[in-house]
Amino acid sequence: MSRKIVIARFNHETNTFSPIETPLRAFAPMWNEDAYRDQKGARTAMGAFLDIAESVLGASVVTPVAATANPSGIVAAAAYDAICGSILAAIAEGCDAIMLDLHGAMVAEQAEDGEGNLLEKIRQMAPGVPVCVALDLHGNLTQKMVANCDIIVSFKTYPHIDMYETGAHAGGLLVEMLEKRIQPVMAWCQLPLLSHTLMSNTSVSAMQRAVNAALAAETEPGILAVSIMAGFSLADFEGAGMSVVVVADRHVDSAAVVAARISHQIWEDREGFIYTSEPLARSLQRAQALAAVPGGGPVLLLDHSDNVMSGGSCDTMDVLEAVLQAGLTGIAVGPLWDPESVAQLVAAGVGAKVSLALGNKTLLKAQGLTKTPPVLTGVVRVISSGEFCVRGPIYTGSKVNMGRTVLFDIGAAEIVVTEERVEPFDLGVYTCVGIEPAEKAYLLLKSRMYCRPVFEPLSKGLVECDSDSGGPTSSNYSLFPFKKIRRPIYPLDSAVDFP
Ligand SMILES: [Zn+2]
Repeated sequence: MSRKIVIARFNHETNTFSPIETPLRAFAPMWNEDAYRDQKGARTAMGAFLDIAESVLGASVVTPVAATANPSGIVAAAAYDAICGSILAAIAEGCDAIMLDLHGAMVAEQAEDGEGNLLEKIRQMAPGVPVCVALDLHGNLTQKMVANCDIIVSFKTYPHIDMYETGAHAGGLLVEMLEKRIQPVMAWCQLPLLSHTLMSNTSVSAMQRAVNAALAAETEPGILAVSIMAGFSLADFEGAGMSVVVVADRHVDSAAVVAARISHQIWEDREGFIYTSEPLARSLQRAQALAAVPGGGPVLLLDHSDNVMSGGSCDTMDVLEAVLQAGLTGIAVGPLWDPESVAQLVAAGVGAKVSLALGNKTLLKAQGLTKTPPVLTGVVRVISSGEFCVRGPIYTGSKVNMGRTVLFDIGAAEIVVTEERVEPFDLGVYTCVGIEPAEKAYLLLKSRMYCRPVFEPLSKGLVECDSDSGGPTSSNYSLFPFKKIRRPIYPLDSAVDFP
């Protein structure tokens, strides 16, 4: 009889400070056969699990759900219950193994440790059934996660380009376990370190050194997988922050030795994981100096205080206001999410001169921030359906729908105002309203990483811009009211020991 394996995908990076809600529809969940069709052949961890289960093990697979949402606020109780419920129901039918494609930084209304809670329920329901888990390297690992599964492997790249490989690694170890060639055991080490996503790029500096140490350790006898979890810091959660998790064959002590060794290396290197925002005025001075250098292409102003892919509202105006105050011109801005203003601008029609209160419509409740929309005057240049097909390297070929989209020209800046929140990971966000991004002096993008592969090559360079007063994804952690995270933790606290 062939084996039966339950394979599911449930991904969310929860920014507990984000004002954006996370209901079930945010996950666009795919159930059963739809989940299979969606993930078979995909370059995701679940795609790898399906390939391994079917091609290597010849198993029959059950795929209760594939659900993934953009980073946003705490997951609604009903969404968490529906998705976990489908996975648990499939496991209750009986199975020989379980393969899960999770993120690791999910906080739900009823479960602060979203993944740990799910894994615990699975283990209670199916005690002896082997479980492997693939995680994002921005997962906040917990004892509950480690204690309730057999194998954890996380991505080794950021930007993430090894999702499939990570699934193949975790799934491959599960096969070895099922065939009784290995007995995986895990040890992990949590650091008192709140790293920054801008410092978790795996091809530079401290994070690169940590991942290289993990890769080297994986060649040691008996060490099956070593994962560096940078963690996700915009989560007021006890377990937020960096950790190292090691899977070894039979000897938990050797796993612990490797986890401790690499954790100490990371601790010695801790400054390399910390990001310090400079005052916005200073960033804009640097941008102006860069723009003055001869040569073509715009200077990119990356507003990382409010980017969609970290849970941003996509409507804060701090950086644009400062840019206008500093007297910069020739700027393209956007996308900026403001459906109310879109309606007003569309009603006014192309060619109309309009004064309106733009942006800053979202109340940043968790941070206790209210921002006042600036009143700007300009001309409606273009009204578009806001649809385009991605030509850039991220999500190539997929369709993006920004909703009704208006090009609002205020003289110094052309602002792309949209009905949907969209991270600018393709030139289409500008070209769909007739802007040629390469011809602008500046592009103001609400993004930190996703825009880079597309916009950097046509630019003169980039300047990271943070809001001085804070935004939903600001990099200045002292502006976030952390209450639940374990203390002391660096850099929120300065005197921190790591024994
Ligand atoms: Zn990530």
